[in-house]
Amino acid sequence: MTAVDVVVVGAGQAGLSAAYHLRRAGLRPGTDFVVLDHAPRAGGAWQFRWPSLTYDRVHGMHALPGMELGEADGGRPSSEVIGEYFTRYEEAFGLRVHRPVHVEAVREGDGGRLRVESSEGVYGTRVLVSATGTWDRPFWPRYPGQDRFGGWQLHTARYPGPEAFAGLRVVVVGGGASGTQHLMEIAEVAAETTWVTRREPVWREGDFGEAEGRAAVALVEERVRQGLPPMSVVSVTGLPLNERTRRARAEGVLERLPMFDRVTETGVAWDDGRVVEADAILWATGFRAAVDHLAPLRLREPGGGIRMVGTRAARDERVHLLGYGPSASTIGANRAGRAAVRDVVRLLGRAPVGAAT
Ligand SMILES: Cc1cc2nc3c(=O)[nH]c(=O)nc-3n(C[C@H](O)[C@H](O)[C@H](O)COP(=O)(O)OP(=O)(O)OC[C@H]3O[C@@H](n4cnc5c(N)ncnc54)[C@H](O)[C@@H]3O)c2cc1C
Repeated sequence: MTAVDVVVVGAGQAGLSAAYHLRRAGLRPGTDFVVLDHAPRAGGAWQFRWPSLTYDRVHGMHALPGMELGEADGGRPSSEVIGEYFTRYEEAFGLRVHRPVHVEAVREGDGGRLRVESSEGVYGTRVLVSATGTWDRPFWPRYPGQDRFGGWQLHTARYPGPEAFAGLRVVVVGGGASGTQHLMEIAEVAAETTWVTRREPVWREGDFGEAEGRAAVALVEERVRQGLPPMSVVSVTGLPLNERTRRARAEGVLERLPMFDRVTETGVAWDDGRVVEADAILWATGFRAAVDHLAPLRLREPGGGIRMVGTRAARDERVHLLGYGPSASTIGANRAGRAAVRDVVRLLGRAPVGAAT
């Protein structure tokens, strides 16, 4: 077993932000703290995003603390642009991310330490910073008949880009940002598209300003304070009306049907007798927090979520969760990294953040 002060699980925006602040606080990467990530390359979940999600199509990527992304070609896939940026970042700050290293479980260890069981061995740590995002836990709802569908079913997490849908009749399920983006690009090549969502989508006019951002974050914050599972950002912010979505709406691409009642062998069907034949069903139904490795610590509340006090799990002050709930955005992840390290430093009895650089 290797003893360290802090194990950071996940090297996405949240994990790297924490690592940056740990280093600034005087903790040595690789000795006092380790960062473990099971993905093959730098970039967090961005490395897996589909090629047509180009850098100019992301909603707003906040730079990691201490280093700007700089000029980037907006037409390049965000997976490449952000992957390269994260690589430069890890090198510049000598963060020494261990990858690919999977963290299987975290449980109570000896002497007040947490036992982190990973594919490269066991760590005994005083503090755990879990920054594992949501990409590894796609949410795929169950509907009757789903297993009998003779066509192609896939989730956003495996979306290959629009070309694969050329000439097909496609049903897209889900009213979030991913669902609308998939639809708009698939509609250009598919034989036919159908959009189904559980709720009537809410379209938002104008910019999503700072005040709206703060209000949205506050709503999600309140949920995790109560131990409820965090909700999706779109359920709080609504979908943006911009030139692209306006055009798609005018062309009928974003005309939505209510959720179907069952999947058939050849499509989807509603109890009122309506049927849509389909070759593919794309489930753009979102993601859940990837926190299975924390199960042995029993942090969940009866409401199904992990109750949080700031970035700390209410049931265990040694456990911080970053990128969870209100910090599940690039700016939120940045702030959470800083706030968590302030707390961690206090728990470890070290000098405050910023005292050592
Ligand atoms: C399609 C899409 C587009 C988005 N666009 C934007 C945007 O434009 N702007 C924005 O602010 N936000 C956006 N988001 C939200 C975005 O995911 C967050 O802002 C941010 O990138 C998440 O960072 P993170 O560090 O929390 O998670 P991630 O980037 O998911 O990083 C988590 C890391 O943890 C690792 N990991 C997970 N489980 C384990 C384990 N058990 N053991 C070891 N390693 C593990 C993963 O390999 C991964 O590298 C988008 C999300 C999606 C799905």
